[in-house]
Amino acid sequence: MKTGASPTILTNALANFDRAADLLKGQFGADLLAVLREPKERIELSMGPQGKDGSLRRVRGFIVRHNDALGPSKGGIRMSEAVTLDDITGLAMEMTWKCALIGVPFGGGKSGIVADARSINPFDKETIIRSFARNAHRHISPQVYVPAPDMGTNERDMGHLKDAIAFSQGVATTRGCYVTGKPVILGGIPGRREATGRGVVVCALKALQVHGIDPCKATAIVQGFGNVGAASATLFAEAGVKVIAASDITGAVFKADGLNVPALHKHASSAGGIHGYKAPGVKTIDGQAMLELPCDVLIPAASANQITIDNAKNIRAKMIIEGANGPTSVAADEILAGREIPIYPDILANAGGVFVSYLEYTQETQAEQMSEEAVRDRLTRRMQERFDAVCQTARDRKLSLRDAAMVLAVKTVCEALEAKGRLP
Ligand code: NAD
Repeated sequence: MKTGASPTILTNALANFDRAADLLKGQFGADLLAVLREPKERIELSMGPQGKDGSLRRVRGFIVRHNDALGPSKGGIRMSEAVTLDDITGLAMEMTWKCALIGVPFGGGKSGIVADARSINPFDKETIIRSFARNAHRHISPQVYVPAPDMGTNERDMGHLKDAIAFSQGVATTRGCYVTGKPVILGGIPGRREATGRGVVVCALKALQVHGIDPCKATAIVQGFGNVGAASATLFAEAGVKVIAASDITGAVFKADGLNVPALHKHASSAGGIHGYKAPGVKTIDGQAMLELPCDVLIPAASANQITIDNAKNIRAKMIIEGANGPTSVAADEILAGREIPIYPDILANAGGVFVSYLEYTQETQAEQMSEEAVRDRLTRRMQERFDAVCQTARDRKLSLRDAAMVLAVKTVCEALEAKGRLP
């Protein structure tokens, strides 16, 4: 049975910010820190795309730009029936910190489209994305807000978005980068698709090293088998880490001596999910119970608030690497800290996607082409460098990894605001 008031993405984001602001109050004025507690802009859209059956449907959309002290707001488009303006506000805020922490010249933003990405047919999804592009075009530009994929949207959708913007401008292609995470053939960058998962795994391998665990003897559990989860599982298996369990919204599977990740991926791609995967030694398990199985590394890579006051006391992972945004509630953070289970926070662990988005942005601005090898190399180096910076700050200031990451990020944004000056 669930206990207590349910945390939300926004309440968690604000609580994490408030602790960082408190730690920085000797360095920056309360007025400056108060500015960062609020989003700069929250836009609500009411769209009327025409479905395949000819009917008009009302679809709500949101765009939030939390901050742009460091550059244009950056953040993905979430498509889900349950997404709210407050969720998008919390996620936009997290993007501000993530961009600052990983060291890219972007501010934080996020968009939401209220639609069920899983059940919608491809024609209607394309129409909704094009409708979003038409309705949101005043807010999307290389200098203002640059979207990307998030839960429920993918590379294909970003191709439609770019095309819709180019079409409305009456040109064959946009000039400068209006959207990242596009297909490579439309100006995307090789390696973006798995960039977030790759960053998660770079972080996890560094964390295993810190804890003196040999990756070839390590076990991992991955919740969520979409863009981030499937790429993380695949790259773990390539690094010799045994992925003993994985789940998605359709089901969860377990194999004590390690799942065959490529076979599971193939099944999930053709069957529309993990449900129904069968192989010798593979057991079907409960997705929530999976989070409490013993393992070295637990990767929540699905939705927010999966590790809460209700299950934190039962978690038996040696460490948690947050692939998803906001998967751990504030109350669970405290319980896990008491149990000395380290959490490598989302703004560090899943920042590989936005880092490679920055490479895509610069590639398009400069009309260059980067090789996949160069992308991987830069991503790995940046993740390792920022991982070390967060661990060092945590040690020096005796902070949790989340608070250390937040302090570094909020400090950077405050410095940018101060450098810009105070006049409106
Ligand atoms: P996605 O839509 O590609 O995949 C989401 C996966 O989670 C699906 O497999 C879905 O079935 C599964 N899922 C949803 N609810 C679940 C539940 N209750 N239990 C188990 N599985 C569940 O989304 P994604 O892009 O992989 O994003 C996943 C998370 O990572 C989100 O929190 C997102 O904000 C975050 N993130 C994504 C990126 C990116 O580049 N795509 C970057 C940074 C952070």
